[in-house]
Amino acid sequence: MKEKFVPRKDIPRIGWVLVDAVDNWTADFACQNCKFPHVRYVHELKHKNTGTIISVGCVCAQHLTQDFATPRLREKALRSWAGRRMRWPTLNWKRSYKGNLFLKKQGMVIVVRPSGGKWVASYKPADDNQGIWTSVKGLHDTPEEAKLASFDALYSPSKTWSDH
Ligand SMILES: [Zn+2]
Repeated sequence: MKEKFVPRKDIPRIGWVLVDAVDNWTADFACQNCKFPHVRYVHELKHKNTGTIISVGCVCAQHLTQDFATPRLREKALRSWAGRRMRWPTLNWKRSYKGNLFLKKQGMVIVVRPSGGKWVASYKPADDNQGIWTSVKGLHDTPEEAKLASFDALYSPSKTWSDH
C-alpha cells in the first residue's frame, strides 16, 4: 500500500508551502489529505493565503506544493540523519581515566559523564584549549541517552538542509 494523492474539496488544491518535515519515528501517522495511515516522514504545509497548517505524507506534499523535488530531498535528509543518529552511540567513544566517555568528531569533542546518578553531556571545539564547554540540556538515565542528546544538540535535521 502506497500513499496516493487525491484532491479533496475541503483542502485547497494549490497555494501550499512546505514549512517543515519531521521524522515521526514510526510509520503510523495518517496523512491529513489522503488519509494514508503509514506515514513516517511528516511534511508540514502552510497555506499562503489562509495560514492553515496541514500535516501530510511525501506524495501529497509534492502535489499540494507543486514541488516534486524538495519533499523527497527532505525525506532523504531525514532518513540519513536518522541513520547517523542511530550509529552515533556506537562510534569510537573512549573512556577517560575519570570514567567519562568522550568522542572526537568533526572538530568537536563530546563528553558524556555521570552526575548525581544520571548522565550528562557537553561539548566544545576540539582545538579550544580554554575548555569552554557547552552543556547539553537534560539528565539522562543511561550513557546512551546522553550520547543521543549530544547528537541532537549538535546536529538537527533542519540544519542538514539549511546548510545546502
Ligand atoms: Zn497523503
